[in-house]
Amino acid sequence: MSFTTDSIAEQLRSVRERIRQAALRAGRNPEEVTLIAVSKTKPAEMIQEAYGCGQRVFGENRVQELTEKLTALPQDISWQLIGHLQTNKVRQIVGKAALIHSVDSIRLAEELQRESEKKGVVTELLLEVNIAGEESKFGLRPEDLESAAVRIAQMPSLKLRGLMTVAPFTAIPEENRKYFRQIRQLAVDIKDKNIDNVTMDILSMGMTGDFEVAVEEGATMVRVGTGIFGGRDYPARG
Ligand SMILES: *Cc1c(COP(=O)(O)O)cnc(C)c1O
Repeated sequence: MSFTTDSIAEQLRSVRERIRQAALRAGRNPEEVTLIAVSKTKPAEMIQEAYGCGQRVFGENRVQELTEKLTALPQDISWQLIGHLQTNKVRQIVGKAALIHSVDSIRLAEELQRESEKKGVVTELLLEVNIAGEESKFGLRPEDLESAAVRIAQMPSLKLRGLMTVAPFTAIPEENRKYFRQIRQLAVDIKDKNIDNVTMDILSMGMTGDFEVAVEEGATMVRVGTGIFGGRDYPARG
């Protein structure tokens, strides 16, 4: 595997430009979209390169890797947990991640509430949705979202900010447009219920293969790994 400073800088510039163009195509303000540089499995030096290009938001999918990098890298980085979170790791992540994208059960939310209260912090989170009903994926079923939102709204140390999804893997990004549209509609439906303490202002959707379609369909956060840092030695997920 080889990389140069230039390639990360160039890739970042290209991804940012593609996000901008996609937003403009959809009549959106490009500044509504936050690029999360997914740095899982990548060394601190590569993250530092991206940081040098102005990137401040990074995504990791493992608790231990996130907390190690948080300690080793500049303190103004916003670390986002995007991978599956086990309840036994909650203690290590609360107070460290700026946003947890992958809350997929009430039991996990209850654990996050307990630990956040203990630490005296408010934990911001998204509900992960398994939008295509894939066996291999984590996430709540669309029909269970509203009741989950109502429950979490009652947990005073949690703040539900929106929805996240990992769309099916496909070589044809257009195929995921319908799923991104559904996620957006689900968020609108929950927002329309005006649940106290639930904002639904974040839609985390779109990865290297499909982020432009996701932006066209309303993503406010896209999670791009390969497109910035190159391929990974192993497909870390969860
Ligand atoms: C790895 C990962 C990404 C980034 O995937 P790429 O295809 O490399 O852009 C995004 N979201 C989640 C949840 C991931 O685990």
